[in-house]
Amino acid sequence: MPITVAKHAGFCMGVQQAVDRTLAAAGEAKSASLSCFTLGELIHNPAVVSRLEEQGIKAVSTPEEARGALLILRSHGVSPDAEAQARASAARLIDCTCPFVRHLHRAVSEYSRDGAPVILIGDAKHPEVIGTSGWCHGQVFVLSSEEEIDALPQEAGQALAVAQTTFPPEAFGRLSRRLLQRFPGVQVKSTICSATAQRQQEAAELAASSDIMIVVGGRNSANTLKLYETCRRHCENTYLVESAADLPPHIKVNSQQRIGVTAGASTPDWSLKEVIDSMTDMERMDQALEPQNEQVQETPLAPEAQAQEAPAAAEAQVPETTQAPEAQAQTEEAHRPASSFMDEVAANMTRIRNGQTVTGKVVQVTDDEVCVNIGYKSDGLIKRSDLVDENVQVGDDIEVEIVKVNDGEGNVILSQRNIVNRKVWAEITRKFEAGEFVDAVGKEAVKGGLLASIEGVRAFVPASQLSQRYVEKIGQFVGQNMKLKIIELDDAKKRVVASRKEVVAAEAAQKKAEAWARLQQGEVVKGIVRRFAAFGAFVDLGGVDGLIHITDLSWNRNVQPQDVLKIGSEIDVKILSLDPERERIQLGYKQLQPRPWDNVEEKYPVGSVVTRKVVRIRPFGAFVEMEPGVDGLIHISQVALTRVNKVEDVLTPGQEVTVKILAVDPEAKRISLSIREAMEENLMEAPAEIPGEGDDFAVNFEDEINSYTDGSIGAETGVAAAFKKAAEAAAARGDEVSEAIQSAHTEEN
Ligand code: SF4
Repeated sequence: MPITVAKHAGFCMGVQQAVDRTLAAAGEAKSASLSCFTLGELIHNPAVVSRLEEQGIKAVSTPEEARGALLILRSHGVSPDAEAQARASAARLIDCTCPFVRHLHRAVSEYSRDGAPVILIGDAKHPEVIGTSGWCHGQVFVLSSEEEIDALPQEAGQALAVAQTTFPPEAFGRLSRRLLQRFPGVQVKSTICSATAQRQQEAAELAASSDIMIVVGGRNSANTLKLYETCRRHCENTYLVESAADLPPHIKVNSQQRIGVTAGASTPDWSLKEVIDSMTDMERMDQALEPQNEQVQETPLAPEAQAQEAPAAAEAQVPETTQAPEAQAQTEEAHRPASSFMDEVAANMTRIRNGQTVTGKVVQVTDDEVCVNIGYKSDGLIKRSDLVDENVQVGDDIEVEIVKVNDGEGNVILSQRNIVNRKVWAEITRKFEAGEFVDAVGKEAVKGGLLASIEGVRAFVPASQLSQRYVEKIGQFVGQNMKLKIIELDDAKKRVVASRKEVVAAEAAQKKAEAWARLQQGEVVKGIVRRFAAFGAFVDLGGVDGLIHITDLSWNRNVQPQDVLKIGSEIDVKILSLDPERERIQLGYKQLQPRPWDNVEEKYPVGSVVTRKVVRIRPFGAFVEMEPGVDGLIHISQVALTRVNKVEDVLTPGQEVTVKILAVDPEAKRISLSIREAMEENLMEAPAEIPGEGDDFAVNFEDEINSYTDGSIGAETGVAAAFKKAAEAAAARGDEVSEAIQSAHTEEN
């Protein structure tokens, strides 16, 4: 076959990536019930645009038309303002700006940061040129002819000159030389993308060696039109076709004709194939009509031909110039092959592999993902879930891991979390091997235990390893910070089994050792009352428990621990003794309380009368509690006005009695009391108020007597004696005993 197809024909990397991402986004938009739009036609190819429309992806000319929808920015890129508007209008934005275009944006943005001018060589109406102008902070001069260079103002002399990425390299070389002749101070940077340069050069070579040249692509594609112009310069029989239907009918496809075919960057493979298939059919038809025609082979451009053509093409791109030596340095850029800057960009593009860690610069931050320039032909994307540094900003250098060089849609997938996880895993492994504890947080109660997170790494804590005691509700550990000891680690499966119980045991042992080293006999320390026993109370001294024996709880006798202390309360205790061997600590509580016998003489002066309760009955008398820890004794001879055989006949425990203090001996801890004297004293005073006045005397007197004994038990003895004594006392004072007393006396007897 006489047809030679250029190697660099059809979709370039940037366009391929944009188309792939757009098709994927359409599916995404559908499942999210969103409309899907592109800001402008995705590529300048009517066939592709109509296919995208069939998929529900329509082009809009302003971001407002895509309000609430999924909006795609095409490979041409947009200005920062347009991007901000798009972000504000669309529900979701997918930026398909080609990495080469993004490099151009960065180049002009950085150069013009202080307001320096930029000369942009390209088509002023092209979306890429419009978008790039928006990245310039100073004045922008867009031009595409030598006349426009001549018309530039003097201030353009300090400019950076760059090119539209798809500008013909040959023309750029010519214009940049003209520019440097006029303004030697201009910095020239060829920003023509390597794909364009290769495509143009190859097309020029193929056209020069062909009788007929077919350029396949959209008529509204600047890239295709430039390709057509280049080919036409080298082959006058050059035709631009959008589809097979546009092929000129007069073309003879036979062995006598050398036919070259190339395609613009926005021409899909299927469109190119359709044209080639059609030409093959034409060839067969010609053969049928002219059987004598020789069968021809499809051949790539012969190497010799390339070798001969290449210098010529290079020469055409970089014509010689005569320049002053001082201008020579500045013009070096322009003398290099036109695509040198982007070649360097492409050459410097990092080779990457899955799992590799690289450092990149953040170039875009959206709600869902962060775009990072990693020096590769495509920027990498980090999903928010894979981002560790939530406050990352555009311009930040961050370390990322290549998760996938290509996710199938041309995207490089990155992760920051993987790096952190890897570092965490290494640290976890180190701590496991060293037997160190790790910090964790309980995440979820699952069957048989707890799932915990160790800095993002999942660990399983079996229920039996949660505590030293049986754990009924595992859920109590969810959300709780804890230390764990890793007891099993599977590096291959990234599986971690950990124990909290071991940590608790180790910490308890350490606390215990510290407590034993710290505690001193005789010192007063704080402790928490933990539990009661029949023989005393246990107190936690911070790692070790001590016992307050029941006899050391209170100065008062017969008290129970719960009468004195409360579980959980913090108290001061005195360390009475320490026995490290038996691990026993004896504590005293009452020792820190005031002694009840202190100042007892002042509190209970001899001769004073008090009312207290009987607490114990003994054969020789009754004990009365003066206050906790201080008992007084009423001797049997003092329990009543008359002699009694048994104390129980007149008194009972719990009974309130009024007693007179006969003697106080703090040393011997004795207080002698007397009911009898208290009664006598009271009765002696009573007659002054009862000189036989009224019939209530007997009743009142009985009440009086009852006030000493409460009148319930043994009352008859006390009452009888009291009446007798009262009568005697009244008679002694010469008073008459009232009839009421006599009658009561009689009644009692
Ligand atoms: Fe394609 Fe080059 Fe344009 Fe990128 S800059 S879209 S690779 S032609």
